[in-house]
Amino acid sequence: MADRSKRLPENVEGEFFVDSTCIDCDTCRQLAPATFRETGSYSAVFAQPRNPGERRAALRALAACPTGSIGARGSAREAVLDFPLTVEDEVYYCGFNSAKSYGGNSYFVRRPEGNWLIDSPRFTAHLVRRFREMGGIRCIFLTHRDDVADARCCAAEFGGIRFIHRKELAAQPDAEQVMEGFDPIRLAPDFLTIPTPGHTPGHCVLLYRGAFLFTGESSLVEPRTAGALGIARSVLAFVAAADRVDGETVRVPVRLGPARPRTAGQVAAGRIARATGSARATHAPSLKTK
Ligand code: SF4
Repeated sequence: MADRSKRLPENVEGEFFVDSTCIDCDTCRQLAPATFRETGSYSAVFAQPRNPGERRAALRALAACPTGSIGARGSAREAVLDFPLTVEDEVYYCGFNSAKSYGGNSYFVRRPEGNWLIDSPRFTAHLVRRFREMGGIRCIFLTHRDDVADARCCAAEFGGIRFIHRKELAAQPDAEQVMEGFDPIRLAPDFLTIPTPGHTPGHCVLLYRGAFLFTGESSLVEPRTAGALGIARSVLAFVAAADRVDGETVRVPVRLGPARPRTAGQVAAGRIARATGSARATHAPSLKTK
């Protein structure tokens, strides 16, 4: 719940505001770009919603905000019901970003043979109910250690199988499936994982149907922790991942996934992700069941 006494001075007057607990994760700016804008190391309301569509988008941002930093006079109950939000076809953005993953996005893919969750949202009663109505969760793909959030709760609730790379296992030591090595692995006919070390040592992206690339934070390299070699590895891995993508342009859902403000490098990586190339996983899967 946002606190009006902590209201940032950068907000324009009106119904919506952001308080100083904001972690600048970018979620509100993606969901309601007509209302929220970055200012220093926060987001703030730079224009109050001018029509019902903009207001609904701002209420969705309020519901998705990981830190409850957005305040409004009205209730967000109706907007909550919009989640998960359709990105395209059977791909959904979950909303309810978690502070445990620094506000990282998570996605839901609805499949006849069993649904997939990519990274984890907050474990909320609304999402649990909606996931159940949509057929539950069979597989939970975790791109890397930072974005596991409530994956354990989701796995327990739905009996889902969690996939994570060996080098990220400390974040989810009881995961059911551990990915090994740095070659692409076909996890299911339409799901190919491609290791992209750099942001973290075992970071992996997930390519779905050769059309959607769930990039986690592969394009976000922190020089302080990764060093020059880490940055070079990450860029090369990302280019290689894009190069393995077959045929059509890759559509990156909603955003690239970093939970912090974009850098020039991330934007460049976004362009790379939209490149075309060839996507054949020629190596045998290297997957271990614990
Ligand atoms: S969604 Fe993220 S950027 Fe927006 S107010 Fe909440 S914490 Fe800040």
